[in-house]
Amino acid sequence: MRTEQRATVAIAVPAAPTDHASPADEVLQRLASGPDGLSADEAARRLQLHGPNLIPPAKRQSLLIRWLLQFHHVLIYALLASAAITALLGHYVDTVVIVAVVLANALIGFIQEGKAESALQSIRKMLALRANVLRDGRRTGIDAQHLVPGDIVLLEAGDKVPADLRLLSARGLTVQEAVLTGESAPVDKQTLAVPADAQLGDRACIAFSGTLVNAGQGTGVVIATGADTEIGRISHLLDDVQTLVTPLLRQMHRFAQWLTLAILVVALALLAYGYFSAHHAFGEMFMAVVSLSVAAIPEGLPAVLTITLATGVQAVARRHVIVRRLPAIETLGSVSVICTDKTGTLTRNEMMVAAALVAGRPLVVSGEGYSPEGQVSVAGQAVSAADEPALHALALGAALCNDAVLTSHGHTYTAQGDPMEGALLAFAARAGIDAQQVRRTWKRCDAIPFDASYRYMATLNHAIDGRSMQFIKGAPERVLAMCITQFEADGRRAPIDIGYWQAEIDALAAQGMRVLAFANADVVPEMQAIDHHHLQQGLTLLGLVGMIDPPRPEAIAAVAECQRAGIRVKMITGDHAKTAMAIGAQIGLANVSTVLTGADLDALSDAALQQAVTECDVFARTDPAHKLRLVMALQSCGHIVAMTGDGVNDAPALRRADAGVAMGDKGSEAAKEAAELVLVDDNFASIAAAVREGRIVYDNIRKVISWTLPTNAGEALTIIVALLLGFTLPITPAQLLWVNLITAVTLGLALAFEPAESDVMRRPPRPAGEPLLDASLAWHIVLVSLLFVGAVYGIYHRAVASGYSLELARTLAVNTLVVMEIFHLFFIRSLRGTALSWQGVKGTPVIWLCVIVVTLAQLAFTYLPPLQAAFDTRAVPVREGLLVLACGVALLLVIEAEKALRRAVMHRLRPMPHRGWG
Ligand code: ATP
Repeated sequence: MRTEQRATVAIAVPAAPTDHASPADEVLQRLASGPDGLSADEAARRLQLHGPNLIPPAKRQSLLIRWLLQFHHVLIYALLASAAITALLGHYVDTVVIVAVVLANALIGFIQEGKAESALQSIRKMLALRANVLRDGRRTGIDAQHLVPGDIVLLEAGDKVPADLRLLSARGLTVQEAVLTGESAPVDKQTLAVPADAQLGDRACIAFSGTLVNAGQGTGVVIATGADTEIGRISHLLDDVQTLVTPLLRQMHRFAQWLTLAILVVALALLAYGYFSAHHAFGEMFMAVVSLSVAAIPEGLPAVLTITLATGVQAVARRHVIVRRLPAIETLGSVSVICTDKTGTLTRNEMMVAAALVAGRPLVVSGEGYSPEGQVSVAGQAVSAADEPALHALALGAALCNDAVLTSHGHTYTAQGDPMEGALLAFAARAGIDAQQVRRTWKRCDAIPFDASYRYMATLNHAIDGRSMQFIKGAPERVLAMCITQFEADGRRAPIDIGYWQAEIDALAAQGMRVLAFANADVVPEMQAIDHHHLQQGLTLLGLVGMIDPPRPEAIAAVAECQRAGIRVKMITGDHAKTAMAIGAQIGLANVSTVLTGADLDALSDAALQQAVTECDVFARTDPAHKLRLVMALQSCGHIVAMTGDGVNDAPALRRADAGVAMGDKGSEAAKEAAELVLVDDNFASIAAAVREGRIVYDNIRKVISWTLPTNAGEALTIIVALLLGFTLPITPAQLLWVNLITAVTLGLALAFEPAESDVMRRPPRPAGEPLLDASLAWHIVLVSLLFVGAVYGIYHRAVASGYSLELARTLAVNTLVVMEIFHLFFIRSLRGTALSWQGVKGTPVIWLCVIVVTLAQLAFTYLPPLQAAFDTRAVPVREGLLVLACGVALLLVIEAEKALRRAVMHRLRPMPHRGWG
């Protein structure tokens, strides 16, 4: 109400450059806001006025530059030079065809890369920033782009500051401002005004948009949004437009450059040999050398590889995983260990209090979800906080030492905040304590927020009747260690019986329950702040609560899938060892007989840890520092590690892991910034799906290369043989260009969209650093090139010997080449299976579409008069056509037989799951 009145007087609030020099309440006043924040209506009005809180996107490359960049490749330079020289020599058809090849490739590259980059951009938009604000006095989570000046924003560790804020409160708040100041050490923040001329890095009372909260908590009022923020003013820094380059692609680009150079050297050597030694005419020799270059240069390869990668990124996004750094898509395919969190990733994070223990009495809690309906009973008898002092004390602690809020929509209740705390509110309600009501009578005056490093949370509350108390909840062993008394059924405090509680904790945990302990202590009413040392002075244990959080059925299936794929899944949790073991068993982890706790890990030397880490699959009571050690230990055993994380302290481990995976939903912004991948739905099954897609991408890249290189090598060899042996060229330069133009961009492209082979998740991960061009691929290139050359010359010479014209003989040779490329494509599709099966022949719609397009193009090339004139082709008689087809079939049979033979030999030598080509 107050807010609305204030708001209508001043809705236009220009950003004042000196907010850091004014006291906080003055800034609040200037912005016509107050401690309760703005009203929803006022926020909507201001949004209209100021526009969304978005930083103007960094300028993308202009279309012209992007188009020109398509030609910025050594391969293309070589082709363009050939085009110029053929034109000078008067071979215009060749010039036109070379230029057409170059343009077609550039066009495909341009369109596809453009599409891929926009897709990447829109995928990144899925990572929209959220902000916690006070609106109408209530804490709500909103999309950060709806923030307006005057909004009160709540900050906690791991958050990315969503707008420029004048801090109103700060508790141990440190912020990492590297994006803005370049300084990576976190800086302390406080609320006092600083001198007007303070530099950005010294404005301790301002939290700047885009910076990361490293630790602590705070609130601040929004003083600037969007382009008006400090980061908005230097938006060139935010140029995070990704270019589609990964180590693998870079490796390929470098290979292509060397290849071009090698081809040019060979071509020049041949030119010199032909001209000086064999005394051929220069023009004729030159054209032959141009055909050689054109034949050997895989001009379509760069574009097709880029498209393969982009297709993979999109496929992974469909599986709810966002690739933040592109190389990760390659890494995913070779992951050999996945270290995952438990809560929310393997389990549903739908907590429900199922059991409690107070004053030596086990309680059963029933009810559905977060609904307050349900009951707490002892031996089938319902009990309530009103009649049971011990239950009252426990439920009061559950309601007050809690940051969550339950909201209802009809009969469905949802929790704002931590689901575990939501479950505690539902429990308190079922025990007869209304959290909203007790929070009014017991005002919270200070709190220690939960942190995974100390595993508890505490609050200091003053009641209106004058009592003051601190409440604490947390991991039982932590809370137990701070208690000297326990709460009895009649409300008395008796000395604590540690052994009894330990046994009860173990019993609850062994059922897979998350166990929390609650304690309290009376304090003096004057006490206004609470610190860790206040808690060490003797608390009273109120009781235990046991929560169930069922495993996700899809995670169970995904763990099994990973294990079949040779990927070890390890659970790293902050939870109790027994709980972790029980959940690990339900999930189906390979080894749940041993659990290592954080304390165990601390006791192990690095060498001993390396030993232990491979065998053990369950790590409990760990803190984020342990994650880092575990990643490093696994990596030193040669593993490629994917690691999940959500908190700000997980960032080092995420950065260190080969594939850091941040939680998109419950994860902090700091974790997302550190990770290569973001899991939109926090679900383990999505990681497994992404690994699968990563493997498919790698397979497809390998297939594209395995198909392209033998094709080019075969074509090049055809020319070299002719030159060295002094034969007439069986295929003219223009015809070769046609083949490259039509086949490379259609057939090669088809492989970018290949679906998974059936064994994609049944074979072990690819070893790290496995070269793309290994010995088996080199052998394949040699074999297929020789078969190509043999068939092309065979058909050509047979035609010449049968008295056909040179033109018809060449037409037959070109068609033989194309038919063999098509059959080779079917072979490559089933690298690990066999193309000689119904599945192999059936192919995919994309493959058959490409085959149809190429066939139609070849028919036009052979039978259409204008093309006959341009390429000097002749109509092929049916009988000869069938012979050409037979060459394709023969090629497929030969290379399939060779594959089967090699596999059998390999199996004998090394009876292990087969990898690669063998
Ligand atoms: P993971 O997702 O890795 O399984 P986790 O939820 O098990 O994470 P943490 O969040 O680090 O691990 O929690 C560790 C322990 O701290 C929990 O088992 C619980 O005992 C305690 N704990 C968790 N959240 C809170 C909280 N909000 N307040 C008090 N104690 C908590």
